[in-house]
Amino acid sequence: MKRICFIAALSLWGAVTHVAAETLIHAGHLFTAESNELQKNMTIVVKDNKITEVVAGFKEAGKDDKIIDLKSATVLPGLMDMHVHLSGQHGGPTTYLERYTLNEADVALRAAYYAEKTLLAGFTSVRNLGDGYNETVALRNAINKHQQSGPRIFTSAKSIATTGGHADPSNGMATRIRPDVGPTEGVVNGVAEAREAVRQRYKDGADLIKITATGGVLSVAKSGQNPQFMQDELEAIVTTAKDYGMRVAVHAHGKEGMKRAIQAGVDSIEHGTYMDEEIMQLMKQHQTWYVPTILAGNFVAEKAKIDGFFPELVRPKAASIGPLIQQTFAKAYQAGVNIAFGTDSGVSPHGDNAKELALMVEAGMSPAEALHSATTNAAKLLGVEDELGSISKGKLADIIAVPGNPLDNIRIMEKVSFVMKDGRVYK
Ligand SMILES: [Zn+2]
Repeated sequence: MKRICFIAALSLWGAVTHVAAETLIHAGHLFTAESNELQKNMTIVVKDNKITEVVAGFKEAGKDDKIIDLKSATVLPGLMDMHVHLSGQHGGPTTYLERYTLNEADVALRAAYYAEKTLLAGFTSVRNLGDGYNETVALRNAINKHQQSGPRIFTSAKSIATTGGHADPSNGMATRIRPDVGPTEGVVNGVAEAREAVRQRYKDGADLIKITATGGVLSVAKSGQNPQFMQDELEAIVTTAKDYGMRVAVHAHGKEGMKRAIQAGVDSIEHGTYMDEEIMQLMKQHQTWYVPTILAGNFVAEKAKIDGFFPELVRPKAASIGPLIQQTFAKAYQAGVNIAFGTDSGVSPHGDNAKELALMVEAGMSPAEALHSATTNAAKLLGVEDELGSISKGKLADIIAVPGNPLDNIRIMEKVSFVMKDGRVYK
């Protein structure tokens, strides 16, 4: 009996090793993101959804192997955007009406459409920092089951705000139609509700927590930068999130809100517009990541010049806060703050994400460092650096290519010509 089983196991073993074909990607130039250099004439071996080997030269294919010829391109790890909102895209004045006119299903299908656009632009992973109805949880699951094309989604589901704060979904509504929102919808006041809202996100299937620690530009509210959480509320959020293995991303423009959040131990500051030398030192001390979103700042500053594009309460905030982010980024980079790539796409159009790279380079970062911010650094911020962020043995096969050398011209990243995610080719 024992012997028969052993023979059966052996033949099964033989069958599995025999049929396993490999995909060989012949890369004319390769940026693995393990260094700042490009390597010439390399082969990446992919089996199922993983990179099994990276070797010099163009390796010859076995009988059942498949070759992907990227000899005239530069091959890189899939890009990772740490701040997107897939559920929508700012389209001017009508955007503010959508919460009255769209159903949850409309928003979910729109998110699927933008997810595909994002993937085809070379972004194989995104952090979705705030949605409306947990639709990005459903989208993440559908993408993971290959029912929909899109990037790997790490979602916070609905953002957490305080009453009237940035991301209170009932802001600006007439009182007679205004819903009574609480922790389930992400609106909290006090320590108990802060904890409840984090636990609710866990129950809803979120991967991480997003909070809005200060006012924001696009919410229908007066201040774009005042602190909106007390210290004890922030600490309650961070400690509760840790209990559930979730990291905390923080929207913040004003200094005081940033300071409180960093001291509470959050993982990343988004936008960070009014951070000064003191905040930068605090971020270095606490190893807090900075996700700049220059693209969103530039977009709203530009649109604020158009009459009627934003409500009157929003327009002056967009005009004053928007143009500052690139300067803040330049200072934070000089100061040595850890930077991870993020665009806030959904403010600016989805699929334009790579434009942020050129803005980073324009502000003083080298092209190689900008690429690291969107690969290795982003993977560290997510805590998935063992699986994603570079082209190396054992990592997941998220691989893209561009028709030129991004270290000479970073704008070539806006012309992604090949996309593989999890070992599957999408473009
Ligand atoms: Zn955002």
